[in-house]
Formats: sequence, structure tokens, C-alpha cells
Amino acid sequence: MKYASLRYHIDRKTGALSRIIERGVKGVEFLLRFMLFSIGPLILELMFVGGILFYLFDVWYLAVVVVTIGLYIWFTFKVTEWRVRIRKQMNDLDADANQKAIDSLLNFETVKYFNAEEREATRYDESMRGYEAAALKTNYTLGFLNFGQSFFITIGLILVMVMAAIGERPVAGILVTHTHTDHSPGAAPLKLLTGAKTYGFGTLSAELLALTDEEVDIDFVPDVALSDGQTVGDGAWQVTALHTPGHFPNHMCYQLESKGMIFSGDHVMGWSTTAIIPPLGNLKEYLEGLDKLAGYSTLAMLPSHGPVIESPAKRISDVRDHRLARHKQVEACVRRGVRAPSAIVEEIYTDLTPRLIEAAKGCVKAHLEYITESAEKRLVVGLVQSVATA
Ligand SMILES: [Zn+2]
Repeated sequence: MKYASLRYHIDRKTGALSRIIERGVKGVEFLLRFMLFSIGPLILELMFVGGILFYLFDVWYLAVVVVTIGLYIWFTFKVTEWRVRIRKQMNDLDADANQKAIDSLLNFETVKYFNAEEREATRYDESMRGYEAAALKTNYTLGFLNFGQSFFITIGLILVMVMAAIGERPVAGILVTHTHTDHSPGAAPLKLLTGAKTYGFGTLSAELLALTDEEVDIDFVPDVALSDGQTVGDGAWQVTALHTPGHFPNHMCYQLESKGMIFSGDHVMGWSTTAIIPPLGNLKEYLEGLDKLAGYSTLAMLPSHGPVIESPAKRISDVRDHRLARHKQVEACVRRGVRAPSAIVEEIYTDLTPRLIEAAKGCVKAHLEYITESAEKRLVVGLVQSVATA
């Protein structure tokens, strides 16, 4: 070191060099990990999925998937190339700032000697300002990259789903069960692709929506607002709308009489029981809805979640029994003076994951509401009787 030229000592970039080495090591490690655990398995998986799509569906599905992935990769490469330039600039400025800081600290005697503290601080601030601007730009462009990537994937996904759902068959109308965000938002793209009209119960008032923090699609307005018992279509494709609130005020089931089928939406599902969360959810209305569905002789129910329900009458009575059993538990709690929803949840729901506690509280509130409602009714009946006997 001592014999190295003076130029070496004057031009050395201690701070910058340590940063560059550090980044290089990190980069190599990242690349190796990425190739081995991310890209490699992904390519393998893609090949398998491509094979399955071709074998189970037809070549068009494979084509859509391949084009989507192609566009995705092309977009990612193009934007990444552009981002690399910005990233490089950011790294240079980072190294520059680091170098200035370490340099002035190493040579603090010289800095002191010339009273240059202020000057050094300003130089450092300038570099950091440049770094800040470049870092922000890097983040913004990352946002753009992510947006573009999900845009291509979403378009591809919608296309494949529409192909699977519709195929070559004409679409005469789109029936919407209710406006929870996992239901009605699909109607808009479907309408755009098919030109068919949308049908549904209609929107809820702003006052009602203000009461809830459930995830509601407030943008959906059906082209044709249906009321209970109204029919759509004709002949074998005549569908009757059945207003079934309880899960959600604008929930509709649809009966396809010619096939003996009911599209039961979220009211009776194939996989679990329905969430009833007051104030928009209401247990009394829910149970009435079950009675209404039980009143039709149905061969099968097609819910919006879970498999086809092949014995509707049994499923409806199971769902009702489950509700009533829960209701008895809640009533027992209330009788013992346990009234807070969280306390009731703790007592009657054992081994509940934390994620579901809020939902369980909502259900308990529905039961409490039902107890009060029936108590009010009993009171009214009692009053009427006492008036009659007086
Ligand atoms: Zn729902």
C-alpha cells in the first residue's frame, strides 16, 4: 500500500468500493436463488399447465395463455430495461453520497484544517437529494411495472373464463344475485363482451350503505331492476326472480322452472353456511328466505360458492338446523347474562382462527337481533291478548 502511487491514494473511493462489492455479492446471491427456486420451477409448471390446458380444453385456451404470458414477459423486459437505467443512476448517486461521507470522515483533519465542515455537508446533501429523486422514480416505475403486469394477466384470465363459461353459446341476459364485491363486478366485463342486459334487484340507498362496512359493489346498477316473483325470458328459459334478503338486502335467487333448478346465490351455498352480518344481514329474513326456497320442488340448486347441491330439501333443512342450534346456544348465553358478542363468541365458537372472529361476532349479533325482534313480537302479541281479554 505504501508503495502505491500518490494518484491511487488521492483517487481511491473507499466508501464507493465497499458499496459496490456489497451490491455485487447481493446481486449474485439473488440471481442464483431466483433462478433455482423461482424461474426454474415456474417454467416447469408452465409447461405442465400448458399440457393440461391443451389436453383437457382445446388449443385456443393454450393460445390465449401463451399470448398472455408472451405479452407479460415482453412488457416486463421492456419496462425493466428502462428501469435498469434509472436504477443504475440511483446506485451511482448512492455510491457517490456514501463516498463523500466516508471520504470526509476519513480525512476529518483536513476538513477541520480548512474549516470545510459546512462545505462537506452541503456536498453530501446535494448527492443525497439526487439519490432521493432517483429512488422515488425507481419506486414509481415499479408501480407502473406491477400495474402493467396485472393488467395483462387479468385480461388473459377474463378471456379464458369467458371462453369457458360461454363458449359459442349466445348470452341473452346476465342475472346478478347481489352486490357483494365477489359477485356483481363480473357483470360489467361480461356485458361488454356479450352485449347482454343485466338483471338484478337493484341498488341500495346511500343511507343503508352507510350503515355497513361490508365490501359492497356500489357501481352496479342493473339494466332491468327485478322485483320478487318477476320473470325473465320465455319458454324453457324462463327464469323467476325470488327476493331472498337475509344474507344481503338485494339478494335474489333465480328459479329455472323447466329444469327444476334454483340458482341459490349466497343464500344456500354448497361449501359452508352463509354469513349474516347485521345491520344489512338479518336472521329473521334469512330463515324466511329458506322457507321460501323450501316451498319449491327443486331437483338441484346451483350456488355461487361450492359444488352443486343435489338434494336441496336436505341441504335447506341442514342449514336451518345449524342456524337454530346456534340460536339456542346464543339464547342460553343471554339467559345466563352473557350478552357481549365477543364473550358469546368465546363461549360457543371453539377453536376459531383469529381471522374469523369478526365474522363470528357478526353472526352472533344477528342472533341477538333475532332474539330482540322475537321478544318484541311476543310483547306485541301479549299486549294484544291482554287487550282482548280485558
Ligand atoms: Zn355475499
